Amino acid sequence: MIPTKMVIASHNQKKVEEMRRILEQAGLEIEILGTDSFPDLQDVEETGSTFAANAMLKAKYVSNETGLPAVADDSGLCVDALNGMPGILSARWAGQHGNDHANLELLLAQIAHIPRKRRGASFVCAVAYCEPGGREFIVEGSMNGEIIDSPRGAHGFGYDPIFVPMGQSVTSAQLTAEEKDVISHRGHALKAFIRELSAG
Ligand code: IMP
Repeated sequence: MIPTKMVIASHNQKKVEEMRRILEQAGLEIEILGTDSFPDLQDVEETGSTFAANAMLKAKYVSNETGLPAVADDSGLCVDALNGMPGILSARWAGQHGNDHANLELLLAQIAHIPRKRRGASFVCAVAYCEPGGREFIVEGSMNGEIIDSPRGAHGFGYDPIFVPMGQSVTSAQLTAEEKDVISHRGHALKAFIRELSAG
């Protein structure tokens, strides 16, 4: 059954905006609340070793605390030349959680010597859903592409300015929000999420 209310379990406003937009565009009749409606919620320690495990930790915590169904994503950038890192450490790659500029600069320095043809990378997103005493499931989405030498574009967040999605000539920070949603890891994962939610 599709719930009437759902909490998006994230403090990252950019991510919440993307998730809210995609869920609303799907035409689901669900009241979508942010964590700002629940000021007592704490940050969840992301102790899992996979995107899926961390997404479920966040969804479960918020669902338990609010008594409402909760959806959470955990996402990051996996760079081939770095053996899949920063991966689940993407948000705090340069040491301080959520410092997008420092994270991106550190990554660029680390792959500065890597030739163009070995610059493959993918964004990965796991979306977890948890209903109090009810359904739980996890879906994933990804977006392949490559890392360029210097940042371009002002949209999006995180590593978007240095990531050119496969088949595009611009970075994901040069795409409009709607263009990014169609091809992005989060867009794919949320579409799978909506299918799964509607099927149950
Ligand atoms: P999380 O909040 O632990 O899921 O961390 C996600 C981190 O991965 C963000 O802080 C960004 O650094 C990176 N990331 C995830 N999705 C995107 C995206 O769509 N664009 C750019 N960076 C992203």
